[in-house]
Amino acid sequence: MCKCSVQNCQKTANYLVLLVDYYAENGDFFVEIDKTCPLLCTEHKDENEKQAQGERKARMTMSYPYTIQEDAQGITEYISLKTIERLLKENKETTGLWNKLKNKILKIK
Ligand SMILES: [Zn+2]
Repeated sequence: MCKCSVQNCQKTANYLVLLVDYYAENGDFFVEIDKTCPLLCTEHKDENEKQAQGERKARMTMSYPYTIQEDAQGITEYISLKTIERLLKENKETTGLWNKLKNKILKIK
């Protein structure tokens, strides 16, 4: 099992953390796994969201207690590891994951 990336947290990770930068003008976006904090347990994911500061908008940089610790522009998104596991088992990893992520990104205003 993968462990949560937060220092001293011994819990099992439940979420993969993504850094998303969205360009509303043309619908383009940049996405990568957050290198500064790739995995979070449910508790730390909730805390990370609760304490997030900034506007959840395209081309904005949010500030989070655990994720995006480098000077990078973007918003944190999470995909549950259970979902990833399920999609891999169903052999739909590419389209399934992509659609899931796209739906999340489209919610960013
Ligand atoms: Zn944790």
